[in-house]
Amino acid sequence: MAKKVQDALKDLVSLCKRRGFIFPGSEIYDGLANTWDYGPYGCELKRNIKDLWWKKFVTSRSDVLGLDSSILLNPKVWQASGHVGNFSDPLVDCKSCRERFRADHLLEEKLGEGCTMGKNFKEIAEMIVENEIECPKCKAKDFTEPRAFNLMFKTEMGAVEGAGNMVYLRPETAQGIFINFKNIMDNVRPKIPFGVGQIGKSFRNEITPGNFIFRTREFEQMEVEFFCEPGTEAEWYKYWKQFCMDWLVDDLGVTKEKLRLREHTAEELSHYSNGTSDIEYAFPFGWGELWGIASRTDYDLTQHQNESKVKQEYFDAAQNKRYIPYVVEPSLGVDRLLLVLLADAYEVETLKSEDPSKPDDTRVVLRFHPAVAPVKAAILPLVKKGKVKEEAQNIYKKLLNHFYVEYDETQSIGKRYRRQDELGTPYCITVDFDTIGEGDDVNPELKGTVTVRERDSMKQERVAIEDLELWLFKNIARS
Ligand code: ATP
Repeated sequence: MAKKVQDALKDLVSLCKRRGFIFPGSEIYDGLANTWDYGPYGCELKRNIKDLWWKKFVTSRSDVLGLDSSILLNPKVWQASGHVGNFSDPLVDCKSCRERFRADHLLEEKLGEGCTMGKNFKEIAEMIVENEIECPKCKAKDFTEPRAFNLMFKTEMGAVEGAGNMVYLRPETAQGIFINFKNIMDNVRPKIPFGVGQIGKSFRNEITPGNFIFRTREFEQMEVEFFCEPGTEAEWYKYWKQFCMDWLVDDLGVTKEKLRLREHTAEELSHYSNGTSDIEYAFPFGWGELWGIASRTDYDLTQHQNESKVKQEYFDAAQNKRYIPYVVEPSLGVDRLLLVLLADAYEVETLKSEDPSKPDDTRVVLRFHPAVAPVKAAILPLVKKGKVKEEAQNIYKKLLNHFYVEYDETQSIGKRYRRQDELGTPYCITVDFDTIGEGDDVNPELKGTVTVRERDSMKQERVAIEDLELWLFKNIARS
């Protein structure tokens, strides 16, 4: 990883560890390179992302159904899909330090994205020499010839070892959907156009994983395969690009200016695709793919029909015609979206001192959209005993029925606010003597109310305890 990249990501990675979002994998055994474990707040954040996606792309739509297919599939699936033959990256070794790299990535660093599209291995080898590409690790300019490295993980199935038992871990969730197309058609009988959505783990033996959770060998995907009548795919392709972009900006609150849609050039397009684009995000290390949206024609279903000899046709009764549907696929990585949401939310804010004799303060804040935030509210009693504590605990227990909320009575209120800011908690609820209406100088009108502090503006308002649940529901749903 280049130094600049490390610096840009360093603070985020350390916050993620410090605050229990993401831990390096297998840490007590000195780690396992590029594996990450989601801690209590990270897994909550991930769950929120998946729930929001599922609701938006599956359950709230009358034209998309859900599926949960296996990770282990018959190897013929990957033969038919082209993954056995083609799912590979050009691998080169540095002859000096023996580090391995993706040749296309090395060239793209110098010449820009897509520069190796349509080039064969011989041409890529020539480009490496002509452009005097250096090894990022040792700076030598001596690489092996590029060779194809298949990204699928292999494992054995069953108790008997041997070639006949070899299976792959799926490198995408999409094929599980294609091979169930007939099952869904025959048993659920949806009408075209319709889609099937799936969330699940995928595995790719990436040559150069890195940039934190951007590229890992084990990751999760959220994919829809949308089946439509041939000839209507361009319309649906356009529709899904807009739908996905709108969800990111309107529902998840991702900064619009940090997103862009990059249409693939003719050389970049897979031979079966008549339109592919990436939604890219301006990550701390530069623009990178977040979401791939591809119009895949009837390629996948046709391939499976040819390999399995099982018809993959749809009968359109209204038009009295039979056809293999075309497919538009929006394919998104859960972990990559999680990184986008973290990077987009992260801010080190300067808080101007009101007293000129005192220096300005800073706070680290994760400005998550409330719907995404792992902790929705923190209940903070101003004193940790007596009726104030009792009331705070009652509120906590009541809210726990509906939201992931925290109770915290340790340290000063300022420190507790800062901790919640770093977790991205949108609301802090403080319980004080006014709430219980007892003590010196209490304002009787405030009895039965609490103070709610909003994370971003730090503004406070009094809310009646009996209205709290409704207040939170309304504010979390706000777009
Ligand atoms: P890349 O060019 O980054 O390798 P890709 O074009 O191979 O990605 P797709 O096959 O289109 O990716 O996968 C769809 C989505 O799955 C990507 O947009 C990304 O969000 C996610 N994804 C793919 N590979 C990885 C990975 N190794 N780690 C994390 N997420 C991934």
